[in-house]
Order: sequence, then C-alpha cells, then structure tokens
Amino acid sequence: MKIILLGAPGSGKGTQAALVSEQLKVAHISTGDIFRDNIQRKTPIGLKIKSIIDGGDLCPDELTIEIVKQRLSEPDCKNGYLLDGFPRNIAQAVALDEFAVPDKVIELAIPLYKIERRITGRRSCAKCKNSFHIDFIGDRKDCPNCGGELFIREDDNPTSVKERLAVYKAQTEPLIEYYESQGKLFPIDADCSIEKVFDAIVKVLK
Ligand code: ADP
Ligand code: ZN
Repeated sequence: MKIILLGAPGSGKGTQAALVSEQLKVAHISTGDIFRDNIQRKTPIGLKIKSIIDGGDLCPDELTIEIVKQRLSEPDCKNGYLLDGFPRNIAQAVALDEFAVPDKVIELAIPLYKIERRITGRRSCAKCKNSFHIDFIGDRKDCPNCGGELFIREDDNPTSVKERLAVYKAQTEPLIEYYESQGKLFPIDADCSIEKVFDAIVKVLK
C-alpha cells in the first residue's frame, strides 16, 4: 500500500508514521529526516538547504522531487511505503502522480492554534528520529525509546514555527482538496492521544 500522511507541522506525522510503518511493514520515508541527515553529514545538499530548513521554508521542488523519486525506487519500497512530509505543495503532488500514484492519503487534522505549543515542547532523538513532548517526558535528556541523545530541532523555535505554519496554510493545505477530489482523502482527528490517532489510522488502512 502506498500511503501519504498529510498534516501541519506538529500534527504528529512523524510519530504516527513510525508506528504505522512498523505495523504494516512498509518503508517510512520522511523528507524532513532525509534533509536533516544531509545537513548533519554536511553533504552538498545539506549545505545548500540548511538555512532554508532552519528558517522554516520549503526546499526547492526539483531537488525534493528527485530525492523522493530516487528513494522510492529502492528495494525496501517494493511492499509499499508511507510518505511523511511529501508532497508539500501541488507541484510535488502532480509530480508524484507521474511516478508513483498513492492509494490513500491520511490527513492528521488539528487546529493550528494548538500547534505552536506542541512544537516548541518537542524533543527529538538523534538516533531513532522519534520525538517526544516535555509534557510527557519532563526534562530528561535521553530517548525513552532507544536511549539516544535528545535535542531541540533548529527549526523548532517560535519564529521558524510561525513561518512553517504560514507555509503550510499557503502551500500544503490545498493538497487536502486535491486528494479529496480524487476520492483518496481520509481525515482523522489528530487532537487526541497517540494511541487513539494510531487506532483510527489502522482502521482506515484496513
Ligand atoms: P514538520 O512537519 O514537523 O515541519 P519535517 O521534518 O516534515 O517537519 O520537515 C522539516 C523541514 O524540511 C520543512 O520545514 C522543510 O524545510 C523541509 N522539507 C521537508 N519535506 C519537504 C518537502 N516535501 N518539500 C520541501 N521541503 C521539505
Ligand atoms: Zn531514540
């Protein structure tokens, strides 16, 4: 099954994608993780996009589309995959329809005013890439999942969060209608516990 997880920054895409990909045994492809990995390794791509990502804007379509196209051609994507963070605008969605037509699009819906707190309280694991909220883990510095080191993402600051939400509204939100008109959209209330959201997703994918 080819699945897209759609939702604002902080809606829980990364958390749910990790759970769902494990349950369904499909590849989890997060463009954000791919970009951050490039930044960390200081690759030519990483050097090019660091300031864009830190500021909360979108990386160039051409580059992003090429990366995803290449990634989807790898053997672990044969059984299907879950895209987390792609597509993020109409141009990317149109491009995706040309090389890999998605089966279902899951929209994690949450009121935007709740998001800022979700993101600014977020701690990310350098090792397993999961993220956690300080409301649940307090000020611990090690990952509850794998023991790796927790850090605060460079773009999880109030200024970049504002920009990311503006970009979401202007560029990503139109995808809801794009996929609704194709009959592929499954909206899920993401303003509840991780378990409840996960159960709702599993139901939709059955
Ligand atoms: P979140 O959804 O929490 O904002 P992601 O990890 O999905 O975070 O993405 C982080 C950043 O990576 C984005 O703000 C953007 O700069 C870049 N990025 C990720 N996916 C894409 C994409 N499909 N197109 C362009 N830029 C992207
Ligand atoms: Zn971890």
